[in-house]
Amino acid sequence: MEEKKEYDLTMIYDYREHPDVIAGRCDNCGNAQFKSSMKDGIFLRECRKCGMKKII
Ligand SMILES: [Zn+2]
Repeated sequence: MEEKKEYDLTMIYDYREHPDVIAGRCDNCGNAQFKSSMKDGIFLRECRKCGMKKII
């Protein structure tokens, strides 16, 4: 039995260490809609459904 990966939603993940399981979709919930923001030249993508954050 494969264990489901748990994501800590208070954490900001890095795409280089955690590439998308399915490109363009949230690893945690599979949602494809994100809120994006740019800070100090860093592109942050936040899932609109569960709030998982990832630096792209
Ligand atoms: Zn999500």
